[in-house]
Amino acid sequence: MSVDTVTLSGSGRTAPTTAVRFRPRTYEEAADVVRGRGPRGAIARGLGRAPGDAAQNAGGSVLDMGALDRVRSFDAATGTVVCEAGTRLDRLAETLRPSGWYLPVVPGDRRITVGGAIGSDVHGHDHRTAGSFTRHVTSLELLTADGSVVTVLPGSPLFEATAGGLGLTGIVLAATLRCRRIATSLIAAATERAADLDDLLARMAGYGTRLPYESAWIDLMARGRATGRSVLVRGVHAPLDALPVRDRRAPLGAPALLPPLPAVPAFAPTSLLGRTAMGLVNEVRHRAAPRAATGVLRSFDAFFRSPDALPRTPSPAGRGGFVRYQFTVGPGREETLHRVVRRLSTRACPSSVAVLERLGANGPGWLSFPAPGWCLALDLPAGLPGIGRFLDGLDDEVAAAGGRVGLARDSRLRPELLTVMYPRVAEFRALRAETDPTGAFRSDLARRLGL
Ligand SMILES: Cc1cc2nc3c(=O)[nH]c(=O)nc-3n(C[C@H](O)[C@H](O)[C@H](O)COP(=O)(O)OP(=O)(O)OC[C@H]3O[C@@H](n4cnc5c(N)ncnc54)[C@H](O)[C@@H]3O)c2cc1C
Repeated sequence: MSVDTVTLSGSGRTAPTTAVRFRPRTYEEAADVVRGRGPRGAIARGLGRAPGDAAQNAGGSVLDMGALDRVRSFDAATGTVVCEAGTRLDRLAETLRPSGWYLPVVPGDRRITVGGAIGSDVHGHDHRTAGSFTRHVTSLELLTADGSVVTVLPGSPLFEATAGGLGLTGIVLAATLRCRRIATSLIAAATERAADLDDLLARMAGYGTRLPYESAWIDLMARGRATGRSVLVRGVHAPLDALPVRDRRAPLGAPALLPPLPAVPAFAPTSLLGRTAMGLVNEVRHRAAPRAATGVLRSFDAFFRSPDALPRTPSPAGRGGFVRYQFTVGPGREETLHRVVRRLSTRACPSSVAVLERLGANGPGWLSFPAPGWCLALDLPAGLPGIGRFLDGLDDEVAAAGGRVGLARDSRLRPELLTVMYPRVAEFRALRAETDPTGAFRSDLARRLGL
């Protein structure tokens, strides 16, 4: 097992801290690290793609799970796969695809691990129909505080605390997943433009689940009557008869990569991309999208391209990193969404990501983020003047509307809002106190929010 001392941050690159990083290659090595932890405890880390500080542990131990990445078994008849926690979702997807199976949930970023997907209970753009990742987990092997390995099944308190539990109930060593059947390796996509936020919400609310993947990019630079103007993208795994006849003989092959929607040229270095330039970029981005196009066949890569399926714009974050702000508010709380979008537009927040989704039923975890309603995700430059106070104001709006921010992406939530947003946090703390009385599992996020 390799061991080194490193400075780590999340993908937002804010608040880096230093820890001893262990890279176990076997379950025994992982158990040794947990048993031999120091007073600052230990936390699992996947690929560190969570934007905030969930996979950091200042002055303590971090278990990098990347070497535990074997797919142990795959049943091509039932689509059941057993894999280790460090298995990357993008690699797993490519293993499954030729057999006619795919990931049960496809998040915006597939360069993440199975353990990270469970620790954050990730969701995809089809959350209304598929639910979150841990809904498709049928069993877990969890390394607990005393160094023993237990099998954890859905429906048990330990499963519900671990699903979206940010690594604080133990280290997931392996998981059994139920995958999704696919007939082809293409997505049939539809794109349309919405003139403003009301228009967008009406289009999203009025649509069924025929094209279950759905997300909208909102132009936060647009103001006045255009506030909330957006581009809406929907898609479904293409059935065989959607393919041209010549492609039907090998529908699950690696498709010739269809070009994504045209990328907007970066006409300024990212660090210099100010509000005026960002406004121009967004103008081009909005106009570049088709007014209405249906049945366009795209490769999975082109369709699910992170952070959304739309043309990329340069990030305004520059070297200072970014704060990913993501929240949900329930159905009937559209006025809150309007107010937040108006506040962002009035402030001309230069966010290259501004993705709106509709979410379905709650995730199974006590700290799972997905909840029914509207979910907006933004990336804001961490160096934006006054960003802390501004986002505190948005937190207050969201909490007052019964909504919540996503903890795996968070790096700055005030602890007093945690219980308002996550009413089951008391149960989570009680379970931790019972199963981990000496606090073996700790992270920067856990200390910051008092989890
Ligand atoms: C561009 C981009 C797009 C994204 N899109 C989405 C999206 O569409 N939907 C969504 O839900 N999220 C999304 N995310 C968030 C991100 O995918 C998640 O936070 C994910 O958990 C990161 O996985 P990771 O393997 O890198 O885990 P890390 O970032 O390393 O860890 C995340 C959490 O999981 C815990 N963890 C990791 N491995 C284990 C393990 N083996 N056992 C127990 N706990 C573990 C960690 O302790 C930490 O609390 C996106 C992030 C980015 C940067």
